[in-house]
Amino acid sequence: MSSIIQHFIGGQVVESVSGRRQDVSNPATGQVVAQVALASVDEVQRAVAAASAAASGWAETAPLKRARVMFKFKELLEQHHQTIAAMITREHGKVLSDAMGEVTRGIEIVEFACGIPALLKTQFSDNIGGGIDNYNLRQPLGVTAGITPFNFPFMVPMWMAPLAIATGNPFILKPSERDPSCSLFIAELFRQAGLPDGVFNVVQGDKLAVDALLQHPDVAAISFVGSTPIAEYIFTEGTRLGKRVQALGGAKNHLVVMPDANLEQAVDALMGAAYGSAGERCMAISVAVAVGDIADALVAALVPRVQTLKIKNGMEADAEMGPVVSAAHKEKIISYIDEGVAAGAALLVDGRQYSVPGHEGGYFLGGSLFDHVQEGMRIHREEIFGPVLCVIRVPDFASAVALINRHEFGNGVSLFTADGNTAREFSRRIQVGMVGINVPIPVPMAWHSFGGWKRSLFGDMHAYGEEGIRFYTRYKSIMQRWPESISKGAEFTMPVAK
Ligand code: NAD
Repeated sequence: MSSIIQHFIGGQVVESVSGRRQDVSNPATGQVVAQVALASVDEVQRAVAAASAAASGWAETAPLKRARVMFKFKELLEQHHQTIAAMITREHGKVLSDAMGEVTRGIEIVEFACGIPALLKTQFSDNIGGGIDNYNLRQPLGVTAGITPFNFPFMVPMWMAPLAIATGNPFILKPSERDPSCSLFIAELFRQAGLPDGVFNVVQGDKLAVDALLQHPDVAAISFVGSTPIAEYIFTEGTRLGKRVQALGGAKNHLVVMPDANLEQAVDALMGAAYGSAGERCMAISVAVAVGDIADALVAALVPRVQTLKIKNGMEADAEMGPVVSAAHKEKIISYIDEGVAAGAALLVDGRQYSVPGHEGGYFLGGSLFDHVQEGMRIHREEIFGPVLCVIRVPDFASAVALINRHEFGNGVSLFTADGNTAREFSRRIQVGMVGINVPIPVPMAWHSFGGWKRSLFGDMHAYGEEGIRFYTRYKSIMQRWPESISKGAEFTMPVAK
């Protein structure tokens, strides 16, 4: 103990003078490993000023040159893949193999951004009439900002920054204060890749920094990923202040097991999707919907698997699940389990009392499994964000679809079946943004786009992929002709093609 994790503004690490700091802990040991600076309004303004100063030069930089910076950045990320993953495990707690996967999925967005010259190509209509051509441009917005959650300290910033920057915008990252180290490492690698000063900046902080970004008139667009109440706040406040906002929120993801599903595959899928990353994923499956007579066999197969999960320090090679992020979060998860028991759900595996020898100060929980959960119980309505799987039994496919469609969240969903028509009907009828058919965690690839429906996303555009390019650019349509083709003088009627 204890280094101080600072800001990165205008191409360099900037020491905070706000006098405000917060501890950063290793969830596997409970020990404080660093402190993070919490920005003052002045410090946020300094970052916005640095980004504004870089905006026009970067917007004028040819897309091919921007792509070359991205190529170099991608190479550096690949070189430091393991270092970044270890940084994630130390501050977040997820197991190292999972953190390695997070880094890979983040690098894939950078890979996509390397194609920016082709991605910014637009349409051209030759001679729409009278020697006039009509074409479109997609131009950068100006200063953009991203506010990110604790659960993917590398990947979620990569959903935003590579595309914001490749499309010609400076970007300010306000990472989660719970695991902030990755953000500075990203900044350093962007610098080494040749990104001009001020194009990528980091302000560490809490609500004060977020509000200063929201209120700053020079911030044109904000991307947010985090819990639903904060997503709604950012969207409402940001749009009221005239900004473009995409705000991705929380989730409660269901996995439907049809009677014809391969039981072993469905159980494997549920184990990884419910307990991987200790359930702290917005795409975690937290509800298994057992259709018809498969329920008893499904539950019987799940119980021994949940009881024998390998839960330990995420740095250990065979760990399947690490700790949760903080002591307070652990207590919150336990209180949800208490409430589920009180509401009458059957707690078949109780993970509330769990400790790892040698890591007694760590924030560990065992896996928990509830059966006979009823719709409307709080453990079904709300996002627990922990290693707790609820089983709901329904009589048929239509009831499964209706149950999911009534839920307030619509981030991800999955169906396990052997029947093509059931799968097709499910994909078409379900009111959820990302759908897996025999795929437990349907996270779209970098060149598609990520986002939920209902109260899992506020705004019109999903993250990264094609929608990411649209989000970070403004559409302009140009009609042009040259003096030789202007045949008449003033025209007072609506111009039409002749
Ligand atoms: P969070 O909402 O607590 O924090 C997210 C960010 O908002 C952080 O940077 C934090 O500093 C900031 N923040 C927190 N409180 C604020 C306030 N009152 N005003 C302004 N800013 C504030 O979320 P978290 O606990 O870090 O992350 C977990 C949540 O994120 C879960 O709900 C999860 O489902 C969600 N999530 C969603 C997606 C998605 O794509 N939909 C992806 C990852 C995580």
